[in-house]
Amino acid sequence: MVKICCIGAGYVGGPTMAVIALKCPSIEVVVVDISVTRITAWNSDKLTIYEPGLEDVVKKCRGVNLFFSTDTEKHISEADIVFVSVNTPTKTRGLGAGKAPDLTYWESAARMIADVAKSDKIMVEKSTVPVKTAEAIEMILTHNSKGINFQILSNPEFLSEGTAIQDLFYPDRVLIGGRETPGGQKAIETLKEVYSHWVPEDRIITTNLWSAELSKLVANAFLAQRISSVNAISALCEATGADVTEVAHVVGKNTRIGPKFLNASVGFGGSCFQKDILNLVYICECNGLPEVAHYWKQVVKINDYQKTRFVNRVVASMFNTVSGKKIAILGFAFKKDTGDTRETPAIDVCKGLLGDKAKISIYDPQVTEDQIQRDLTMNKFDWDHPIHLQPMSPSAVKQVTVTWDAYEATKGAHGICILTEWDEFKQLDYKKIYDNMQKPAFLFDGRNVVDPEKLREIGFIVYSIGKPLNA
Ligand code: NAD
Repeated sequence: MVKICCIGAGYVGGPTMAVIALKCPSIEVVVVDISVTRITAWNSDKLTIYEPGLEDVVKKCRGVNLFFSTDTEKHISEADIVFVSVNTPTKTRGLGAGKAPDLTYWESAARMIADVAKSDKIMVEKSTVPVKTAEAIEMILTHNSKGINFQILSNPEFLSEGTAIQDLFYPDRVLIGGRETPGGQKAIETLKEVYSHWVPEDRIITTNLWSAELSKLVANAFLAQRISSVNAISALCEATGADVTEVAHVVGKNTRIGPKFLNASVGFGGSCFQKDILNLVYICECNGLPEVAHYWKQVVKINDYQKTRFVNRVVASMFNTVSGKKIAILGFAFKKDTGDTRETPAIDVCKGLLGDKAKISIYDPQVTEDQIQRDLTMNKFDWDHPIHLQPMSPSAVKQVTVTWDAYEATKGAHGICILTEWDEFKQLDYKKIYDNMQKPAFLFDGRNVVDPEKLREIGFIVYSIGKPLNA
């Protein structure tokens, strides 16, 4: 029986390994993590992350050929294939701070593999890493192991949170990069065999190591760039009376462009887009390509601009002050169908409103009060000026309440900001909400989920991203 060990039981490691276990009954899969809390949750009925369909998959395989453990050394040493799916956040200090990824977790995982390995292994980069990381890893492994053969493969993950299981079941492509040596090619074939249990052959792409590592960064940069492009145009639409939904529809009808990822919004979030673009910017700078770095930097700048623009619109619309006013925040996660709040635009919007002394009442179906308190009090790294911005003061955070109901959150509010596109926000009884709000009642739709005309008929003053104000 082939044995797989995955280091890192997070948003990627957990779901990816659960699907491999489900689709490959002949393979034993063990997911290990240094976090006891995470492993305990994976072994319980309350999984550590919310992801549609995940619970089902885990329940089918857990204890059969899927295991979660903190015994990292044992399972690495027994595995034939070791996936590394640890976090690679942006560095907050030292060389490259604010742009380069922090590879501390990576390096310690690689050193641990070298330490405990007793037989030849394939090591698979699942985390998103800078191009040429495999070279550094090879160095660590070969200098620290005793005659063991390691083959490094790059197999970046393209799932997106909220649709992870669907993405893993029916991937657009699986990418495997390896050395062009006989050993490298054999390792590629071994991993290909795992995926071929359910992924059609024509969807498995093999490349050299550096193309695979770089492709993941570029794919995320292109996705984020589309969002920033349409968001930049949304500002122009508001200034001219054009409607960004109509413009995006027309533009997306061109088959060379396509309709996906052209929804204007308050901005992108999540743990990957900003981090991966900044990583790309840093790599360009290190390779003497400042103009290319500048180009990609603008994608993040426009995203920041969009969040600031949204806050300014809220404050300006409400007679230039939100001081003492209750603002309901509907949605805090960075997108629907996930409880993940990493880099969510809601953090910046809430901080902006709290900075103007608003009282905030938040409702999100999957985000806990602890998460929100942590996010609002956490230092936010300013990537352009490598210093830490001040977290919210305890007195400002006291102005935040978290509710488990949209009606409760909006009761007595002067305004509502919709910041996540949860389906349930389309179905709310807005007449009831309007009746329980202060007047004039404002609604700022940061995801364009409600029909502004219907809400205006009720009496709301509505601001939708990139749409005419008085349509
Ligand atoms: P995560 O923070 O949810 O999970 C990482 C896990 O690794 C944590 O549980 C942490 O405790 C564990 N870990 C760190 N060092 C360890 C060690 N030495 N031994 C054992 N466990 C260790 O991160 P994530 O969202 O799963 O992302 C992982 C990687 O995948 C990142 O590089 C990310 O950029 C990439 N990625 C993420 C997504 C996404 O949607 N989240 C999608 C594609 C790729």
